Amino acid sequence: MIKKGNINVQTENIFPIIKQFLYSDHEIFLRELVSNAVDATQKMKTLKTVGELNSDITKLRVEVLLDKEAKTLTIRDNGIGMTDEELDKYINQIAFSGAEEFVNKYKDADTKNSIIGHFGLGFYSAFMVAKEVEIITKSQLPNSKPVKWVCDGSPNFTMEETKKKTKGTDIVLHIADDSTEFLEENRISTILNKYCKFLPVEIKFGTKTDKIDDPKGKKDDKGEIIKVDKVSDNIINNTKPAWTKTPANLKDENYKSFYKELYPMEFNDPLFHIHLNVDFPFNLTGILYFPKLKNNLEVQKNKINLYSNQVFITDNVENIVPEFLTLLHGVIDSPDIPLNVSRSYLQADGNVKKISSHITKKVADKLAGMFKKDRKDFEQKWDDVKVFIEYGMLTEQKFYDKAKDFSLYKNTAGNYYTFAEFSEKVKESQKNKDGKIIVLYTNDAKEQHSFVKTATDKGYEVLELGGPLISHLISRLEGDNTDVQFARVDADIIDKLIEKEETAVSKLSDKEQEKLQKMIEDQVSKEKFTVQVQNMSVSDSPVVITQSEFMRRMKEQQQLSGGGGMQMFGAMPESYNLAINSNHELIGKVLAEKTKKKRVDLINQLLDLAMLSQGMLKGEDLTNFISRSVNLIK
Ligand code: ADP
Repeated sequence: MIKKGNINVQTENIFPIIKQFLYSDHEIFLRELVSNAVDATQKMKTLKTVGELNSDITKLRVEVLLDKEAKTLTIRDNGIGMTDEELDKYINQIAFSGAEEFVNKYKDADTKNSIIGHFGLGFYSAFMVAKEVEIITKSQLPNSKPVKWVCDGSPNFTMEETKKKTKGTDIVLHIADDSTEFLEENRISTILNKYCKFLPVEIKFGTKTDKIDDPKGKKDDKGEIIKVDKVSDNIINNTKPAWTKTPANLKDENYKSFYKELYPMEFNDPLFHIHLNVDFPFNLTGILYFPKLKNNLEVQKNKINLYSNQVFITDNVENIVPEFLTLLHGVIDSPDIPLNVSRSYLQADGNVKKISSHITKKVADKLAGMFKKDRKDFEQKWDDVKVFIEYGMLTEQKFYDKAKDFSLYKNTAGNYYTFAEFSEKVKESQKNKDGKIIVLYTNDAKEQHSFVKTATDKGYEVLELGGPLISHLISRLEGDNTDVQFARVDADIIDKLIEKEETAVSKLSDKEQEKLQKMIEDQVSKEKFTVQVQNMSVSDSPVVITQSEFMRRMKEQQQLSGGGGMQMFGAMPESYNLAINSNHELIGKVLAEKTKKKRVDLINQLLDLAMLSQGMLKGEDLTNFISRSVNLIK
């Protein structure tokens, strides 16, 4: 016996507390222990580079061994090991005080959540799942004696000399009765796959299943072949994941296959990737992928994995990367991101802020580069990436500043323009009498077909602007370009949307117009429709239903922001404008019609046709329309 001792901690017994506090996160013990083991092997490499080591470092590896029968899980490395003094110092003194500090800090139940993602509880997290822990270690230093340390979860430990031929450390966990899940092969394999998949040293996972005859035929004293453990094992990690390699050495297919490695269930290839590689003023590497969106446009958050020196930390990267980039996939690896702090602290951390703005800049630069290099290809990808870009433009000023030059707008003929190109194209033809450039758009070219056609027949350009963010983006663009105004094609009749000096004259006198207005108003709901007699072209429709740009946008933004303060006034009612084309032949017929019944039928027929073209004619109204139409044809 070298030493028997009492670990010098203030807290009576920290283990029950450790156990209780990390309840939801017990599995991280394995990450901690495997990380320590990996560190111990990496230190061998460091010693070699500084010339303090002569032994071979080519076969460095970590083994995780599961023995169901003995109810143990062993983490074995052939790293630097520890001498008895080192063990006393690092485990009995330093690690224990670290664990105590940790417990004191997080004893308060309110901060319990902030523990998730905590990194560095280290060795003592073993006591979350083990009732007894052994450390059997031999230092790489010449002539050092192997030591065995045992602790049963109370602050008492023993340390004694033991037998161990090779340098390195075995951590043997005697799994506690309430933690037997960690004796399941599948469970361990899942944890290793989650946290250790990209560790820089080979990790072997072995399960002791049976006793078999020694394959080398070794015999015991009685001359019988001895039995040895049959261990089924396999390497579980890729020690050189793509993000740790030099971009110049990687081809497109390497990035694609790494994507598959990260997301085995993902069916589609990513659209493109961005390889991050920074070493000043902080360390950061990684690969971000723009995923191909599924048909349902469902965007998935929390697909980016955060690593610290190839150890998986979390897939909750909120506050570390800008919000709009949480929609991307991939890996970020940085030893400089503080992991043992709460999320709100993280948000305020200077390094994290720098990382965030650096990533934003990188993404914007990459997109700008793609746009410049191969515009056609960029246009082909546009429909898939625009959600990210528009979201970014609305949430990050710095991104907006760069993205406004490559963000694209598609017209109904399928041509793509930057905003500057488009305003240049229409600045003469679509300028109204007040000097404003009117940008016409549709959010659904099929549904608004008649309006789109009226506009394009006049030689106007119509943009296809859809998606939930568009009304916000439009407001933003209008704010930045005060000579431009957006108008959805169905917001008014075309000659009102782009009002020119020379307005068409009316065939009707003022008196006739008044009379007509009254006739129509009698047939429609006053709350829902505002009737206006307009001097339109003879070839335009007799009646056109429109909805004011302003009212519609208010409504859309209200819906998007979930109501907010406006909610107390209730949802805004639907209201429309009815434009009556005073120059249309049939409107002339309405005025001239002497029989009231015939006149009302004609008005309703025209109104219904306008409703029909908007997809607004439903139910009983539609049935009435059909029977009235049949009668009229008869
Ligand atoms: P941390 O890893 O954050 O320093 P730990 O409590 O996990 O804290 O470990 C304390 C120390 O014990 C380590 O810094 C290291 O010096 C030593 N140690 C732990 N595990 C091993 C190991 N497998 N091989 C060699 N030394 C180890």
